[in-house]
Amino acid sequence: MDYEKYQRLVTGKIEESFTQWDAKKFVKESELYTFLHTLKGTAGTIGLHDLAEFCSAHLEILSPHDESVIPISSLKNFKKNILLLADGNKKERRNYVLPDLYVDHFDQETFILIIDDDLEFVTFTKELLEQLGAQVLIAMDGKRGIQQFYDLQPNMVMIDLQLPDMSGLDVFDQIRDTASDRHVVSILMSSNHSNKVISQAYEAGLMDFIRKPLELDLFLPYLFNRDKWRKGISQSITTDGLTGVGNRKRLDEMLMFCERLTQRSGVPFSVVMMDLDHFKSVNDTYGHPAGDEVLKAFSRIALEEKRETDYIFRYGGEEFVILVSGGKGEAYTFAERLHESFNNIIFEEGDRSFSVTFSAGIAEYEGRLEMLLIEADQALYQAKRTGRNQSVIFDKNLIEVKRKLQVIIIDDDFLIRTMLEEELRGWSLVDIELSVKMFKDGISFLAADWFDPDTHFIILLDGIMPGMDGLEVLERLKRRPDTNNILVSMMTARTSEQDIKSALWLGADDYIMKPFQKNEILTRIQNLSSRMF
Ligand code: GH3
Ligand code: MG
Ligand code: MG
Repeated sequence: MDYEKYQRLVTGKIEESFTQWDAKKFVKESELYTFLHTLKGTAGTIGLHDLAEFCSAHLEILSPHDESVIPISSLKNFKKNILLLADGNKKERRNYVLPDLYVDHFDQETFILIIDDDLEFVTFTKELLEQLGAQVLIAMDGKRGIQQFYDLQPNMVMIDLQLPDMSGLDVFDQIRDTASDRHVVSILMSSNHSNKVISQAYEAGLMDFIRKPLELDLFLPYLFNRDKWRKGISQSITTDGLTGVGNRKRLDEMLMFCERLTQRSGVPFSVVMMDLDHFKSVNDTYGHPAGDEVLKAFSRIALEEKRETDYIFRYGGEEFVILVSGGKGEAYTFAERLHESFNNIIFEEGDRSFSVTFSAGIAEYEGRLEMLLIEADQALYQAKRTGRNQSVIFDKNLIEVKRKLQVIIIDDDFLIRTMLEEELRGWSLVDIELSVKMFKDGISFLAADWFDPDTHFIILLDGIMPGMDGLEVLERLKRRPDTNNILVSMMTARTSEQDIKSALWLGADDYIMKPFQKNEILTRIQNLSSRMF
């Protein structure tokens, strides 16, 4: 790991604070406390141990709540010492060298969400975890973190205790049930490691508490340990925790069972694949706990309506599969009955009430098990495309409609555009129709008619472009009411870390440092697309 880069960043940030203090001529004790508190966490993580200790010592004598003011003139030595320590003793600087053994230790399935607004800390940790082979996403405030958690389903989440809009404990409160159902490794981080904070974390149900600064010699073995545990659990569990119905693994087993049964008895079987309509807006409007209630109600009604020889499974977030003993006609009748019962349920949230519908795709087993879910999914997609709240039976005479993904690259660098375009055009993705669009600047992108509600988009946006910079393009893009199916990855130069922060604040989902390796960016697109559908 290149500590030096982060150390430079820290120095820059310290100088920025000092300039602000100088202008005011004084600083409040509580401000000084917050400053040292954050600095301590970052400093220790990037190898500035002396600076971290210095911060600790001062924190002990300061109070986070004291509003009394300290004149800047009395902080001369204090400032000098901090800058000296931040510069580090170059000879003694201990750069962290990631042991070879650890590189690519994780597979791409390990997906980590970091909810933390401390830029130096998150960029450092992201780079480290990516070297380990994990996928990493960052949210800089609690609200966005919660949303990313539900949308992209990470299997590890690291939450900072102090966030700009809420506390890390409040964030966890809103994801706790799903985190525990899905066996997500949940970690609270803070440089405040008083027993009170740690016990609060455990009482709230978090799996682990980790001290900032991160001690990498401990942190990495710890992460590997948890990753192994998580993989073991997900192999052995076959029930969905939230709804109590079978999970995907159980579905695979039962599909094979039904196939054998059909081959032996000659009784046909079918699958009904169902997806709740506009579920994202249920979450957005009424909150995720209300969304969870809808999922539970759906399973309950489906269990009531199904016959004893039918089986129900939760296939994904708001997708369910039912194996129906019988042909596609019978499966259709079942789906229609379920529509009637489920659509009529009135959900209540505070003084508002709402109802939810679903779409269904149906396919009958015809000797090729591996095609069954694909066909049902095709039919489901038809049902969605042609109006939702209906059931569609798979028909091989229908033209296959694939889910559409468009990668848009906005960059004034001709070479980058051509290189990525060539590479992407050569790709073929299973079940996904991929298209690529290029824009040479933000203005032409914003003026173009690129949007289509049935397509998912991954937008790679250059940070620095003539005319309008990437941040402004991002800001305008995020003003659209329909950004649900759009993921934005900012491409920024290493020297403009402040831009990363702005980009994440403005709602970018990811960032990539320029210059990048071609493969790095292609892997990233592949990973993001696998999370979108
Ligand atoms: P469509 O009609 O096209 O299916 O629209 P949609 O909004 O339902 O589609 P999409 O698949 O984009 O959104 C599904 C949402 O389900 C995204 C995610 O936030 C939410 N979700 C996934 N798992 C859970 C969960 O366990 N609980 C809750 N409350 N929401 C979840
Ligand atoms: Mg849906
Ligand atoms: Mg869905």
